[in-house]
Amino acid sequence: MSVSTYISAEKIQARVEEIARIIDMDYNGEEVVVIGVLNGSFMFVADLIRAMETPVFLDFIAVSSYEGTESTGELKMLKDVKVNVEGKHVLLVEDIVDTGLTISKLKTLMEGRSPKSLKLASLLHKPARTEHKVDIDYLGFEIEDKFVIGYGLDFNGLYRELPYIGEYSAS
Ligand code: 5GP
Repeated sequence: MSVSTYISAEKIQARVEEIARIIDMDYNGEEVVVIGVLNGSFMFVADLIRAMETPVFLDFIAVSSYEGTESTGELKMLKDVKVNVEGKHVLLVEDIVDTGLTISKLKTLMEGRSPKSLKLASLLHKPARTEHKVDIDYLGFEIEDKFVIGYGLDFNGLYRELPYIGEYSAS
């Protein structure tokens, strides 16, 4: 197996800063409930909220929809948020939107809890794989149809700690 750099740590950090500035302009000093979708988003969330000046109430949600390198199409709630989002600005933060299944289900779930607004930030998006169309309000990078790891993303639990996005290949 081998790992090659696909998006460098420097490029990621520069893009995170850009997104944080746009988010700050949009929320204009109003508090936002940031919900990181575990596990993959933990590094992106940590960098994003540190780059933001918007006041943040942080929570996490954990769902599972993936096994190995292929989506199972099932969404299982592993850990719900503790915060009551009713009447609050909510920003869901994902690592990657692949088929769109996970985030479209999560958005529907959150919308049912009557937030004041609901937006989505995703570090990565694979447009070629879209099955469930979702609007991504803040996108880091569009990528090709490759299986990527690092910067929070794993392969069977490994490689999350890499500071860059790598391309994984079994050869
Ligand atoms: P979706 O429901 O959009 O198909 O898949 C979303 C989830 O699948 C992501 O949150 C992530 O956990 C996983 N996923 C999708 N593509 C990749 C990828 O290229 N690499 C890794 N490590 N996980 C992926």
